[in-house]
Amino acid sequence: MSGRDPNFDILFEPVKIGPVTARNRFYQVPHCNGMGDRHPRGMAAMRGVKAEGGWAVVSTEEVSIDHTTDFAPAIEGRLWDEGDIPYHARMVEAVHEHGALAAIELCHQGIACANLESREPPLAPSAQTLNVSSPLQAREMDKSDIRAVRDSHRASALLAKRAGYDIVYVYAGHDLSLAQHFLLTRYNQRRDEYGGSLENRVRLLRELIEDTKDAVGDSCAVAVRLAVDELLGADGIEAAGEAPDVIAMLAELPDLWDVNISDWPNDSQTARFAEEGYQDGYTAFVKSLTSKPVVGVGRYTSPDRMAAMVRKGTLDFIGAARPSIADPFLPKKIEEGRIEDIRECIGCNICVSGDMTNTRIRCTQNPTMGEEWRKGWHPERIPPAASGDAVLIVGGGPAGLECARALGQRGYPVTVAEAGDALGGRVRLESRLPGMASYMRVADYRLAAFQNLPNVETYLDSALSADDVIAYDAAHVVLATGATWRRDGVGKNQRLPLAIPESAPAIYTPDDIMAGAAPADGPVLVYDDDGYIMAGLIAEKLARDGRDVTFMMPHSVVSPWTEMTLEQYAIQRRLLEAGVTILSGRRLTALDGAVRHACVYTDAEAELAAAAVVLVTSRISNDGLWRGLQARAEAGDVPWRTLTRIGDALAPATVAHAVYAGHRYAREFDAPVPDGTPYKVERVNV
Ligand code: ADP
Ligand code: SF4
Repeated sequence: MSGRDPNFDILFEPVKIGPVTARNRFYQVPHCNGMGDRHPRGMAAMRGVKAEGGWAVVSTEEVSIDHTTDFAPAIEGRLWDEGDIPYHARMVEAVHEHGALAAIELCHQGIACANLESREPPLAPSAQTLNVSSPLQAREMDKSDIRAVRDSHRASALLAKRAGYDIVYVYAGHDLSLAQHFLLTRYNQRRDEYGGSLENRVRLLRELIEDTKDAVGDSCAVAVRLAVDELLGADGIEAAGEAPDVIAMLAELPDLWDVNISDWPNDSQTARFAEEGYQDGYTAFVKSLTSKPVVGVGRYTSPDRMAAMVRKGTLDFIGAARPSIADPFLPKKIEEGRIEDIRECIGCNICVSGDMTNTRIRCTQNPTMGEEWRKGWHPERIPPAASGDAVLIVGGGPAGLECARALGQRGYPVTVAEAGDALGGRVRLESRLPGMASYMRVADYRLAAFQNLPNVETYLDSALSADDVIAYDAAHVVLATGATWRRDGVGKNQRLPLAIPESAPAIYTPDDIMAGAAPADGPVLVYDDDGYIMAGLIAEKLARDGRDVTFMMPHSVVSPWTEMTLEQYAIQRRLLEAGVTILSGRRLTALDGAVRHACVYTDAEAELAAAAVVLVTSRISNDGLWRGLQARAEAGDVPWRTLTRIGDALAPATVAHAVYAGHRYAREFDAPVPDGTPYKVERVNV
């Protein structure tokens, strides 16, 4: 018998989408994964796990329809000819095996791709520059080009049907699709029947829907993904402008509307900038204009909210990319009344960084994401313990907690000793910074799991020394002791410690600020040689506290690595709005009475007056205990059989790396990987 809350029954109603029926209302919308056509087995296994976890629809990423829209170097999908069918069929099979529908997002990227691999001139409604960084420009399409794109789209739809897909998308979203480019006046200045009036600008989208219905509509549903607002005011499509007219014109033509806001950074906003359900206000109007089912997204992880959305009649399907990545079994857990087991997305966009760096997807909360095929990791299942060996884990941060959870799930006796008065390590501290509360979910999920794991014991206020570890007499010792922000200026642009004389302004690190230290009165300099989120968070916090803050960095933009998490623009904007002065292209050269800095291009020197400096440069592993234990091991007998460092204690990295490291230790604990590459490699054998 299901232990499900009857309030959530509505989420498990089947919904008809044209000629096919979804078994419930959970819909994994298209999302990139950095595997696509390069690592098709990995991609298929990942999608299959989503289907197993209860999603009724599982979609691909963007799939290129022909060589005039070649997404290189991004690793995404391709369906150009018969040769691409087998890899799609593999994914479809993995999805069907678990009773879900498989959807494919066919795409022509128009001015959003430079065709670097195919070397074809990019295509556009009107001749113009690309909307991605490239010196190439796009040429205006003539009627035969439009005909050719329609033919390619139709041909890909037919191939998709042969591969077994149930739902075929026509894509007009994210500023990444030709049909959308035709819709937008800023891109379309044509004078023929494809430009000018809205009816003309909608024409290509309408034709693509009609073509697709005609080609495959007998057995496949045809979905449209449409951006209904671009947050650009009158310069873009608006929910309060033309978007309702577009929907009204095409209302009953597709079998499903998948609606969101554009571009990708707006659609996939991080928790720092947007709450769960942040798109509701933009997409709520859609259902009033069509009788077809509507899917929307907004990082939904709360079942109450999901059920309310359906009940209110705002959405028919709960769309999700990130919540399905963090917990592929989210629907199953709601269905079985296991709400407390849900691994909630923290909204960090580390998953996006995989696609942005052309590497496989990864997730802070779900260490198995992307590893389903090559390592055989499943998000819910793990082999049982092979012995009764006890494990002592020193440090209760993300690495230590995930290590304990996964070893505990296997059935091993585990002890976690934490120096502090609470568990969570870095996420406990970082979650206090502005907009970062959701990071605490990394610890909360694991602490909740401990409730059902009597074999995991945790001890607080237990800073272990080498003697303590030896006295504990565990067979296996794991050091997950984390890392500390450096106080000596060493980072990417300063490889040796800076001299910091008595006369220097007061020096702080992020650890000091997170622990509650208030910098000395007067202007504060935040110096960022790290490039990820921390310096921006510290500057934002200090500015909110009313401090006069200057943000200086050798980079040319604030927090450059956050381009990978789609946050860079939002972070820089937020700091500027908070009144932070930004000095780019400057490196710190000396700290004496004043702050001395130099231009990274010319070395021209300058001075800045600051009462306090927060150095956000790099972190150093907390390896004192490791060194102490190593010395004891060298000096004589020690009780443990293995001593291992994991996470930041081994090499400082993101929270996602620490969780992964903890999980990996637990997986490989009694199953050492063979020599050589520690995972299966997908190879194309010619
Ligand atoms: P990671 O991200 O690798 O998990 P964190 O810095 O988040 O690393 O967590 C490390 C945790 O280890 C911190 O909570 C810290 O208090 C704890 N710790 C560090 N040294 C010791 C020690 N000797 N004994 C017990 N706990 C320790
Ligand atoms: Fe959510 Fe972060 Fe995982 Fe992406 S990486 S799914 S944003 S927790």
